[in-house]
Parts: sequence; C-alpha cells; structure tokens
Amino acid sequence: MYCPFCTDEETKVIDSRLVAEGNQVRRRRECHACGERFTTFETAELVLPCVIKNNGNRQPFDESKLRSGLRRALEKRPVDIETIDATIARIKHQLRATGERELPSRVLGELVMDELRQLDDVAYVRFASVYRSFQDVQEFRREIEAMKKQKAQSQRSR
Ligand SMILES: [Zn+2]
Repeated sequence: MYCPFCTDEETKVIDSRLVAEGNQVRRRRECHACGERFTTFETAELVLPCVIKNNGNRQPFDESKLRSGLRRALEKRPVDIETIDATIARIKHQLRATGERELPSRVLGELVMDELRQLDDVAYVRFASVYRSFQDVQEFRREIEAMKKQKAQSQRSR
C-alpha cells in the first residue's frame, strides 16, 4: 500500500480491527518515510449473481421480488416474518456461495422450493404450482407424492 502523502511504498500496519459487524477490516497504517498515518478499509466483495431469465434477459437479483413471492406463497400460513427473513438470508447466502456472476432463474427457483418444502407444505405446493406451471394434474400429484415420500424418509432418519 503506497503512502497517500509521499507515495512511498513502505507502510506498516499498526492496528487492525473488524468494523461494520465484521464485514469490514479497518487498518491503521504508518508510513516509514514520512511518518504520516492513514486508515484503510477492506471489504470482501460478495455480490449477488444476476438472474438469467428463460428468455435470456439478465436481471439483478431482486430481494423485494423474492420476498413478495415468499409472502404470496405463505399467505395465511403460520409462518412469521422472522422466519421469512431468515429464509431470504439463507437463499442469499447460497446464491453468494455459488461464486457465480450469473445464474439461471431456475436455480433460484429451486432454492426457494427447497426452503419452502421444509417450511410449509401448503406454501411449497402453492409456489411450485406457479413456478413450475404444472402441465397437468398428474404431474402435480406426482410432485406431492414425492414430497410426502421425502418427508417420511427424513422423519425416519431422525
Ligand atoms: Zn509517507
């Protein structure tokens, strides 16, 4: 890190601490040449990937859209706001963890369905029926059967 005062290359970190709830590192540095002190901030870049829609259009990830989708699926269901917030946080975490800059909207849809499946059966079916726009009743029935089977398995393994 060059000194911003004399542009000398030799600067020394004299203090380092986490700020902004641990999302940033604040460093105090001192220049060897002129003795000036200055502060730098480091932030990990964790951007959310863009969503590639079915028609090929790219859209920035839209949290309010995700939230309204979840709320619509969870309407009149016994799931509180904190749980919805936690669900959104988990989905965002998983999106970031992919390290991708762009992801097909399908990936986001599957993440949401995974979350809803564990949260509330009715909400899951609501979301899935809209999201997957089931071709016919048979397909819908198969989906529900698969869900029941999965649930029974996870209960047995507990
Ligand atoms: Zn200097």
